[in-house]
This record gives sequence, structure tokens and C-alpha cells, in this order.
Amino acid sequence: MDQELLTVVIAARDEAEALPLLHLRLARVLDDLSADGVQGRVLYVDDGSRDGTWDVMRGLANGDRRVALLRLSRNFGKEAALTAGLDQVTEGAAIILDADGQDPPELIPRFVALWREGYDDVYGMREQREGEGWIKRASAHAFYRVIQRLSKTPIPTDTGDFRLLSPRALAALRQLRERHRFMKGLFGWIGYNRIALPYRREARVAGRTKFNLWKLWNFALEGITSFSTAPLRLATYAGLAVALLAFVYALVIVAKALLYGDRVAGWPTMMVVILFLGGVQLVALGLIGEYLGRLYEESKQRPLYLVDDWRPTASGVSSDAS
Ligand code: UDP
Ligand code: MG
Repeated sequence: MDQELLTVVIAARDEAEALPLLHLRLARVLDDLSADGVQGRVLYVDDGSRDGTWDVMRGLANGDRRVALLRLSRNFGKEAALTAGLDQVTEGAAIILDADGQDPPELIPRFVALWREGYDDVYGMREQREGEGWIKRASAHAFYRVIQRLSKTPIPTDTGDFRLLSPRALAALRQLRERHRFMKGLFGWIGYNRIALPYRREARVAGRTKFNLWKLWNFALEGITSFSTAPLRLATYAGLAVALLAFVYALVIVAKALLYGDRVAGWPTMMVVILFLGGVQLVALGLIGEYLGRLYEESKQRPLYLVDDWRPTASGVSSDAS
């Protein structure tokens, strides 16, 4: 019987300390899996690291024939790095893991078990987050709820990128080439059989997070604008509501002027109305700008990433088991 093939895709930026620790754990898991008929491989993607991560990766590849390496020409961001990695997985399933050990590799066999049951998208769902402050937890919580209300695409709560994708899910994902990549949304968009696998998110083994609050805010904007046009509609409704109020108010003013004559007064009211409307208009313009800007980026049709170096698994043979 053919062996099942599984590639673990790991995007890393400045993870020189964490990678060797992770690889030890990962290698053990892959050994166990191969006894179970699954041929495991690892693909490390260096997303423009500046701390010697690439050298660490090369060391790992030298010591383990199952390791393939991909290096991007600069830092393209995690989503692009993952896309680059997944693009290389042309056979078998793929599983996505964070380089910092927050997604425990020991869980991989459970993902594989669900894959064997016929699921195409097995996603890890965080039950607990360790080593993360309350601001991050609270904002993540709020974000998932907002985007679920706004978007028609199902985006499960508290789901990170820790997931297994079957070959056909990978093929589907490869067809989505949009520039602004909100991966959680893209995974949801492709559909197929999906199932959640609850797990405890551990603290980083080394190094520090690359996502500060500002980055997370931008990430949230990305998610919302990529998967919902509700904010645009909101501007329309706000405009309608204000216009309606203004109409009613205009009637009142006219009636008053007719009844009592027009004494010059009402400067405060005028200022309030002008400032309020000005504000509403600017916000609406900004909203349109957000979407327009993304349209512009999309229209440039630039590649999602550029590859600097690509090293397939040792000796170039794709399979050492057959
Ligand atoms: N990462 C990446 N490119 C980036 C930023 C992050 O490949 O520009 C990787 C990083 O090395 C890690 C994963 O994305 O493997 C998650 O990053 P991090 O742990 O900093 O995020 P957090 O877990 O705090 O959300
Ligand atoms: Mg992390």
C-alpha cells in the first residue's frame, strides 16, 4: 500500500533559538508517524530572518533528510510565508505549525487520525492561551466575534493557523491568489469537511512574539475588509439616518422661521451639524479608501512572495521510503 505523505510547513522569522527545540520534538513525532504508515516531511520557510535562522535551518536539514528549506527574498509576513510553503506541497497533506512551539507538534498524530477519517480541514482550536496577556486575549476574543457577525464566510472562533489540510483542500487553496491574505478566512472559504480539534496553546519556548497590538489591529482590519463589505453598507445606512434626521430638522427650522420670523441665531446648532456631518463624511471616505486601496494592490498583480533559495528534501529524492 502507498504510504501517506504529510508535510509539516513551518514559517519562521527570527526563530533561531526556538527552531532546534521544536525540531527535536517534531523529529520524534515524525518517527512515531512513520511506524504508523505516514511518511512525514518538514518544510521550513525562512521569512526574511535577520538572526541566523537560515543557518540554523541549514544545520537541521543537514542532520535530517526529511527537512526541506525555502527562503524568501525578504520578510513578506507570515501569511505570505505560509502560502509560499503550502505552494511547494504538491503531494500529500500539509500541516501548519508555528515555529515557536506554541502549537505542540505532539498533537500531529491526532490531526492525522481525523484526516484518515475523511476530514479535509482539521483545525486546532485554542482552549487556553498561556503566556499571553489579557489585552491580547480580550482583543482576540472580540475580533473573532466581530468578524463572525460581519462575514458570510464561516470563520471559527479561537482558531489559529495550526491545522491539517488534505490534498484537495491544498489544491483549492492554491487557486486563491489574492494579495491581502487573511488565511483564516481563506481556509473557511474553501469549505469541505471541517472539524475542530481543541488544544491548549502553550507559551513560546524562546524568543518573543512578532505581533504587537498595532499589527494585530491591522490584521483585524485585513480580516474584516477581505471578508466583508458590511462596513461600506454601514456608511450608507449612517448617511441615510443622518439625512433623514437633517430633513426632519429642516422642516422644524422652516416652520419656526415662518411662525416666529428669522432672527439670526442658532450658530451653535449650525456648527454642531456641520462638524458632525463633516466627521461622518470623512469616516465614510476613509472606509471607501480602505477598500479602494486594497483594490489597487490587487490590480498590480504582483507575486505574493519571491523565493531566494529552495532546497528540497536531501538528495533531491522526494521519497526515501519506497
Ligand atoms: N512569522 C513569520 N513571519 C512574520 C512574523 C511571524 O513567519 O513576519 C512566524 C513566526 O516565526 C512564528 C509564527 O509566524 O512561527 C507566529 O508568530 P508569533 O509566535 O510571533 O505570533 P503569536 O503566536 O504571538 O501570535
Ligand atoms: Mg507564537
